[in-house]
Amino acid sequence: MVTTRTAKAAPRRRANELRKMLEAQDELEFALLQMKADTLSRIDAALRRLDEGSYGDCFQCGDEIAEARLRALPFAVRCKCCEEALETLEEHNRHVAQRSAPVVLFDP
Ligand SMILES: [Zn+2]
Repeated sequence: MVTTRTAKAAPRRRANELRKMLEAQDELEFALLQMKADTLSRIDAALRRLDEGSYGDCFQCGDEIAEARLRALPFAVRCKCCEEALETLEEHNRHVAQRSAPVVLFDP
């Protein structure tokens, strides 16, 4: 009886492993689709700014975004200086949020 139970457990364990692998693959594909959709959205917005004549103007300070930056990142909306300032602020906010987050002793 133990042998039968063991023999049935292996395929079940393998099936569960396969299911987890497929779920992970689905999540990865979904994340890639989200990234593609986000990039397309940024490109559409850049094309709109081109039509409006505001392409290359920094959203933050209004200065011109450097040509080299636009060549590397055609849908950039901030100059390098403003982008770096924003990233620093976001990083600071993440640190503050982590420090003030309640400590979870166990995950139910
Ligand atoms: Zn700027």
